[in-house]
Amino acid sequence: MRKNDEFELEITALSDEGLGIGKLDGFVWFVKGTLPGDTALCLAMKLKKNYGFARVKTLLKPSPERVTPRCAVEQRCGGCQLQALSYEAELRFKANKVREDLLRIGEVPAERLDAVTEAIVGMEEPSRYRNKAQVPFAAGEDGRPVAGFYAARSHRVIPWLDCDIGAKENARILEVLLAFTERFGIAPYDEESGRGLLRHALIRKSRATKSYMLCLIVNGKELPHWEALLQALQAADSEDARLETLVLNTNTRRDNVILGDTVRTLYGRGYIEDSIGDIRFRISPHSFYQVNPVQTEAMYGAALEFAALGGNETVWDLYCGIGTISLFLAQQAKKVYGVEIVPAAIRDAKENAKRNGIANAEFFTGAAEEVLPAWQREHPAQYIDVITVDPPRKGCDETALRTMVELAPKRIVYVSCNPSTLARDIKYLRANGYELTRVRPVDNFPRTMHVETVCLMSRVEEK
Ligand code: SAH
Repeated sequence: MRKNDEFELEITALSDEGLGIGKLDGFVWFVKGTLPGDTALCLAMKLKKNYGFARVKTLLKPSPERVTPRCAVEQRCGGCQLQALSYEAELRFKANKVREDLLRIGEVPAERLDAVTEAIVGMEEPSRYRNKAQVPFAAGEDGRPVAGFYAARSHRVIPWLDCDIGAKENARILEVLLAFTERFGIAPYDEESGRGLLRHALIRKSRATKSYMLCLIVNGKELPHWEALLQALQAADSEDARLETLVLNTNTRRDNVILGDTVRTLYGRGYIEDSIGDIRFRISPHSFYQVNPVQTEAMYGAALEFAALGGNETVWDLYCGIGTISLFLAQQAKKVYGVEIVPAAIRDAKENAKRNGIANAEFFTGAAEEVLPAWQREHPAQYIDVITVDPPRKGCDETALRTMVELAPKRIVYVSCNPSTLARDIKYLRANGYELTRVRPVDNFPRTMHVETVCLMSRVEEK
């Protein structure tokens, strides 16, 4: 086979990036825009030793699981990969991904997985769920500013305001912003030259208060005429989305990091508030906050259920963010300690504890793999009943895992946004005195390749 050769291929699987996978004469092909069950006439594009990338020339037989995408730019935008797959098939695919990783990477025996895995928790309506949008600005073809989403694996902006997994009010907010940039000649940032002012708009919406934060990331210290923007935004307020706060973030770096370090509040209090369950949270621009409030309740509900607290326990919550899981657990434990690396998030966590009248939670700023061992050295006799972890995609640091094992809690609840690092860490815990006793995948990110999993690891009693 050579570049530009045509061949017929049946797609049988999906890669982690959402590319269709098919095999032909022992050679593996990755084909963008295809789904398992499709048969396509493909065009070879790039060939490696054992695999290659191809493009669809004609879709000969579409998969029976295909649906009409709700979004017009789903083929070009890098945000969603599964808009053309039925939601039932998506849930099946994600449940299977979690299972396969736990089997292969985690080396958990199939019988154990069969015994402990619960049904994946999907959404009733898998659209309009994201409470956060990060929208880049760029110069459009005619030089005028456009806003939209990055194409897959690129920083090319696909102009599009109405993302179907985002809040429906975002389009209106972005229209107001674009009109403002035109009226006052505010130039969009250009990554190549490092010139231009407006880089990103970060919109965070609170389901509880029906209001939103707009954080504008600019390549400079000032946003000229922002008062006019404020007026225009307020004039566009609706019952479902009221401007709560307008903040300016300065980012003059030349790398890919979206937010710079300094924020200045132009209007409002500089943060928004949202509720999960009966706890109210304050969320600052720099703090991590779960993007799908509906599914987050299901996820934290699972964490709380698996932690099985009776009121007398001492608990550690590693990678605690603004204290979301910690404060949930604190309502049913004697004492909860939280640790998180972002200082602004810990400030929010402390404030959140105070505002909710929760006095039995204590928070530390720092890396879990440093704070936990240090605490262990200072409190050698203190027993920990339960540890929860909710690490970023790269999973837990091995020092953190080792310390957890040394502290020997009865239960470890692992909340994960990446099945493969989850499986790696579960392998470590299984080799060090713990058994996997519950697995519940939760679909926090419909239409994308991402899935959350909540696992319970129980300490095996020594005989
Ligand atoms: N449990 C929280 C946050 C989960 S996201 C929630 O559900 O909202 C993961 C968090 O881990 C982020 O807030 C990130 O800032 C933090 N983090 C990343 N590396 C860390 C480390 N080494 N030690 C502690 N926290 C870390």
